[in-house]
Amino acid sequence: MDFSLNESQLSYLDTVRKFVKNEVTPHILEMEKSHVFPWDIINKAWKTGLMNLSIPESVKGYDIDSFTSALIIQELSYGDTGISTSAMCNDLANVVIGLHGTDEQKELFLKPFVEKPVLASFCLTEPNAGSDNSMMTSFIVKREDGNYVLNGSKCFITNASYASQFTVFCKTGKPTGNFIACVIVPVEHVTSDSPDIGNSVREISVPSGGKIIIGKPEDKLGQRLSNTASVTFEDVIIHPNQIIGDRRLGFKYAIDVLDYARPMVAAIGLGLAKRAFAVTLEYTRERKQFGSRICDLPVAREMLTTMWKKVELAEMALFKAIFKIQEKAKDAGIYASLAKNTAAEAAVFCSTEGLHLHGGYGFTTDYEISKLARDAHIIDIYEGVREVQNMIIGREIV
Ligand SMILES: Cc1cc2nc3c(=O)[nH]c(=O)nc-3n(C[C@H](O)[C@H](O)[C@H](O)COP(=O)(O)OP(=O)(O)OC[C@H]3O[C@@H](n4cnc5c(N)ncnc54)[C@H](O)[C@@H]3O)c2cc1C
Repeated sequence: MDFSLNESQLSYLDTVRKFVKNEVTPHILEMEKSHVFPWDIINKAWKTGLMNLSIPESVKGYDIDSFTSALIIQELSYGDTGISTSAMCNDLANVVIGLHGTDEQKELFLKPFVEKPVLASFCLTEPNAGSDNSMMTSFIVKREDGNYVLNGSKCFITNASYASQFTVFCKTGKPTGNFIACVIVPVEHVTSDSPDIGNSVREISVPSGGKIIIGKPEDKLGQRLSNTASVTFEDVIIHPNQIIGDRRLGFKYAIDVLDYARPMVAAIGLGLAKRAFAVTLEYTRERKQFGSRICDLPVAREMLTTMWKKVELAEMALFKAIFKIQEKAKDAGIYASLAKNTAAEAAVFCSTEGLHLHGGYGFTTDYEISKLARDAHIIDIYEGVREVQNMIIGREIV
């Protein structure tokens, strides 16, 4: 295992660091307070090549390896995890097309993301099927003309209000069916020039038939620069070429997606943990009490050391998970879960203790640490809560 970065990785790292330093960090508190969807940053990130990392070379013209993808996501997250979540969500939705779609489907459903800055949504969670996805009731049923009809409701869907395409996991045949399918639903493109949805419901007429209703965006504790909303499919007509792979193997495909995405969520958590550590170190180096810098007070120094250790361990767990993915190792899944949990723990710990080391100032919205503390909690929840990751690890090791 080699920790040194090659020239291309160093170049990406340099690009994304400059992007974050110039475009994100200086305005982040203002942007977050205004709660306006960051289209401008998304457009710039797309132009800079920091989005759609999982789209294969056959469609995009070049490839980005998983390690470089994780580095890019981590650095973007150092700027803001709401923005990186919105950007990464395209891969969450689209990686299944690259992995299991036909060449025609890749061209049809992935090419638009290469051509312009548009967003995708990954629709797995439902009100009664959160950690236990098998309880989903959205379903497709075949019509006599060979097409299918999709009905059902999803919740907590990232990018939903602005999505130009939805990747939907649903039961085959009936709501209580044993098999899950993965279908792709492209809709009219939404770009930064489209009228902003603000805090409204979005209703989409699907050209082939049926409609999609996107609920009002959720008013969230953190990651307020990402968009999250419910998505309801009402009699949406699905042509067979919108179904990815075998319409009974959607559950396996969802696991493939999550095995890719969990290390990327770990990269999001690691970026946040690094930022929380950095702003806390800076603050405690400047602030003096009892005649010395806070960072020189023994108990505070010990806390800074613990924060640093959590960040380093999270980075090591992430690197090992990526290494396992690149090796196509059979046990890659448990390392993805380990990386996700370790990064979430580092993010929550560093932002919570970092806030504490800022004292009363940390409790005000003038200091970034309070935003980081709000943002951190979701890392421990989305893409599978901590307990589910432990369940996966436990099941494999015994
Ligand atoms: C901001 C945000 C963005 C999201 N984006 C997306 C998206 O783009 N697409 C998508 O499909 N979903 C998305 N989600 C949904 C997210 O993945 C789910 O919220 C998550 O999987 C947990 O499901 P749940 O909320 O129903 O919690 P539940 O499953 O109800 O779990 C609640 C709690 O119960 C406990 N618990 C659950 N299972 C176990 C267990 N096996 N053992 C022990 N304890 C357990 C845990 O403490 C857990 O936190 C998003 C959610 C949020 C908040």
